[in-house]
Amino acid sequence: MLAALFFWQEAPIAHVLFIGLGNMGLPMAVNLVKAGHTVNGFDLSRVACDAAATRGIAIAADPVQAAATADAIITMVPSGKHVLDVYNSGVLESAPGHAVFIDCSTIDVATARDAHDLAEKCARLSLDCPVSGGVAGAEAAILTLMAGGTSQAFEAAKPILAAISKRLVHCGPSGSGQAAKICNNMILGISMIAVCEAFVLGEKLGLSHQALYDVASTSSGQCWALTSYCPVPGPLPASPANNGYKPGFAAALMLKDLKLAAASAEATGAGLTLGPKAAELFECFAQDGGASQDFSAIVEAIRSGSLA
Ligand code: NAD
Repeated sequence: MLAALFFWQEAPIAHVLFIGLGNMGLPMAVNLVKAGHTVNGFDLSRVACDAAATRGIAIAADPVQAAATADAIITMVPSGKHVLDVYNSGVLESAPGHAVFIDCSTIDVATARDAHDLAEKCARLSLDCPVSGGVAGAEAAILTLMAGGTSQAFEAAKPILAAISKRLVHCGPSGSGQAAKICNNMILGISMIAVCEAFVLGEKLGLSHQALYDVASTSSGQCWALTSYCPVPGPLPASPANNGYKPGFAAALMLKDLKLAAASAEATGAGLTLGPKAAELFECFAQDGGASQDFSAIVEAIRSGSLA
């Protein structure tokens, strides 16, 4: 007992300013509070602020003022433009010299590097640190986080990010977290289409969903899109296919990530074919009314032949 007490160390408590309290940001902020951190939240939307207040987040009237006492400033906003809006708002100048800026949004690599440059000009630590795991992962504090930035910024952020993640990977210098995120989600977008095409072909060949699932889930066709997110009803009761394709992970978000990957492939001359094709297919699906459905609902468009 004495030995246990001797080795027990209290986790450091930080003051966190959390900007962007939407579907992802709010549960992440709530888990920081649960871990004992002092969290101030801010969002441009009054509705988001009111919802956050009901879950125990103290809303900051002025984010620039709130930054002055923050050890970490986390952003979780829709796009790169919003991240730069925040970074250009005065929060960088207001924050203490030791504070670390952590952007958890999914944005393009070039803008992520621009955000790092702004932080560096103010001599502030910064990380791009997008997340994987969706709203359910955010609620359960089991996100996978992928970070880009200096080791110093990574070490400063680590104890805080531990409260919201099951895995935190330092991927390399600035922009590397976003690079890992778009590569991972490109795998997911492509593999979901592959799994959907296999089920549609199986149907044409008279194969039951369960039979194909039982074979492919334990064979070389096994992948996350199949065994954690099966796009047809039946084999995996918890997948969105059994719930009218309610997201989950909306097709609009998958399209956003695939477009980021396709733009990066073009900018770097990577010469990809399947990633940009997946972006094209999800774009058609989204334009035909699928944007707010779960991304696995693309199986219905493949079955109808509307994407061929
Ligand atoms: P969301 O639209 O629900 O929330 C974003 C919030 O940011 C909104 O409430 C908006 O008012 C606020 N905001 C925008 N600009 C702001 C500013 N300048 N200052 C303060 N608040 C501002 O979006 P979300 O689903 O929470 O996603 C956030 C980010 O996380 C996106 O980049 C998304 O791609 C990424 N992401 C989402 C998921 C998911 O499943 N939803 C999964 C992984 C990553």
